[in-house]
Amino acid sequence: MELCDLGIKELKDVFAKGEASAEDAVKSVIARVRAKNGSIGAYVSFDEEAALALARENPKSVPVAVKDLINVKGQPCTCGSKILEGYTSPYDATVIANMKKAGFIPAGRVNMDEFAMGSSTENSALAVTRNPYDVSRVPGGSSGGSAAAVGGDMCIAALGTDTGGSIRQPASFCNIVGVKPSYGRVSRYGVTAFASSLDQVGPMAKCVDDAAVLLGAIAGRDPRDGTTPSLPVPDYAAALEGASLKGVKIGLPKEYSRMDGMDGEVKRITDEAVERCAGAGAEIVEVSLPHSEYAMAVYYIIAPAEASANLARFDGVRYGHRSKDASDVYSLYVKSRAEGFGAEVKRRIIMGTYVLSSGYYDAYYLRAQKVRTLIRRDFDEAFAKCDALLTPCAPTPAFKLGEVQDPLTMYLNDLFTIPSSLAGVCAAAVPAGFAADTRLPVGVQFICGAFEEEKLLKVSKAFENATGTARDLAAAAGKIPSVF
Ligand code: GLN
Repeated sequence: MELCDLGIKELKDVFAKGEASAEDAVKSVIARVRAKNGSIGAYVSFDEEAALALARENPKSVPVAVKDLINVKGQPCTCGSKILEGYTSPYDATVIANMKKAGFIPAGRVNMDEFAMGSSTENSALAVTRNPYDVSRVPGGSSGGSAAAVGGDMCIAALGTDTGGSIRQPASFCNIVGVKPSYGRVSRYGVTAFASSLDQVGPMAKCVDDAAVLLGAIAGRDPRDGTTPSLPVPDYAAALEGASLKGVKIGLPKEYSRMDGMDGEVKRITDEAVERCAGAGAEIVEVSLPHSEYAMAVYYIIAPAEASANLARFDGVRYGHRSKDASDVYSLYVKSRAEGFGAEVKRRIIMGTYVLSSGYYDAYYLRAQKVRTLIRRDFDEAFAKCDALLTPCAPTPAFKLGEVQDPLTMYLNDLFTIPSSLAGVCAAAVPAGFAADTRLPVGVQFICGAFEEEKLLKVSKAFENATGTARDLAAAAGKIPSVF
């Protein structure tokens, strides 16, 4: 094993024994990226000198790959878009500043769907990213570069963002742990906004312990993001000691077992996960989330509405791409945006502008907000009966590159992740097994109430103990991520 094959905890143990330094770790990551990125395409840029310099400054720091929409001073931040070509970040996002204080350093920038809109990373204007478990398949999205880098051992851990499933679905596709924190748990300052009432940054890691320590590093109150309350950040990593499912009430939302289009192997692995929880002492209860069936429709009104407002700032004047053949200020806006944005981003801006326009606002946007409240209440009621919910992460394992052409089919990937995003609660994707037919990884999702990350991580850790880590599962399935 090389240093880049290790997780955070393992690497820290190596540091503690004095067997290697942060510089060695960064060098190992760089060597792996040079060897594998041609075939996996996880990274879109890597400021090797900057990462090595930070590693020398703090010889016990752990390198972390960063999704290309989180600002790191002096580095590009493309958001997977042509429109941010040539842009350099003038400052560090709060998550980066927090991470550095906690002994992590940013090392390399990873691919994503343009402005985080998508479920396969195929909407990136920069590169094609492939699933490290099968290079003919997508890594999921929108944090596909993060997931491919972690799953393919091209980094120690990564940061992703999740608006409707973008950490959890790619985590499931690439056999890694991904946590979407509760809305407000992590600052969004310096993170390019997609849908501001939903966006959260979260850890993507090789095991639950690593996700816990990285979440603890980035979470907390930030005066620059008014949605972050001054709730203390527990020591998540320490809380995992002796994590157990004994007496824990796991709720199964009855609506989720009847959803159409679910892959048979996903169903089998999810059922098996339920049995493992029961076997480890959990009490399984049935709960109901009756308004979940409207979640997809609500999300595709609210998220595009917010995106259309957030993306108005990309006008060819202040950031990145500027059209060369504009004749006046109006044509500068129109042409820069027409040339800079890809098809999916344009579709969302058009939808979002429509649902916010006068005459339609009440019928769409306002109505969607009301249904969102009902969805949130469903979760409150469910959590009165159980500690955590267990659901599939995504309806299928990773699909082939180019296989899903129709946007609606692509949107359905987030069927199981969008309701909890709308409710603002926290959720984690945890590796659960491999499909018997395709031999692809499949994760399950645990969901807990708002600001219950400690409980969520404990449940996830106890499940990991009962099931095996991602590495154990891959070994048992005889699947080693493609090495080239
Ligand atoms: N796939 C969903 C979308 O395209 C969610 C994306 C995300 O969570 N950023 O909007």
